[in-house]
Amino acid sequence: MINCEECGAKCCRYIAVETDPPDCLDDWDQIKWLLMHEGVSVYLDNEDDWIIEVTTKCKNLGPGNKCKIYNNHPDLCKDHDIKTCVMNGKGKVEKILFKTAEDVDSYLKKTGLDKSLPKECPKTSRNS
Ligand code: SF4
Ligand code: SF4
Repeated sequence: MINCEECGAKCCRYIAVETDPPDCLDDWDQIKWLLMHEGVSVYLDNEDDWIIEVTTKCKNLGPGNKCKIYNNHPDLCKDHDIKTCVMNGKGKVEKILFKTAEDVDSYLKKTGLDKSLPKECPKTSRNS
């Protein structure tokens, strides 16, 4: 197992937030726009959650890759399990990974979603 000193604090160098599943072409257009920004990737993970990931270093990461606020860091960091972290977990977390807008275009074409999805999303509580 890789330890935190060896790994260079990989888990302190990105953020990942869950987003709604894309269910219309406008949603996919927004994903393409996100991917036009540096350091952004979007993926469907092994638990079928859609995730936006952004490469960005935590401001609390100090010299020697040590957390400067270790005794007061967020629960999210406390709960992070080295056995299942990005370096030591089993296999890839991404089922489908998009790094560029072109990745999205080819996926939509390959799956036929470019023809079958509506342009606008159905009205739901999230967009009404
Ligand atoms: S928890 Fe995992 S990813 Fe994070 S610093 Fe330690 S070894 Fe690296
Ligand atoms: S608060 Fe500390 S442990 Fe949490 S991401 Fe930042 S540097 Fe890493």
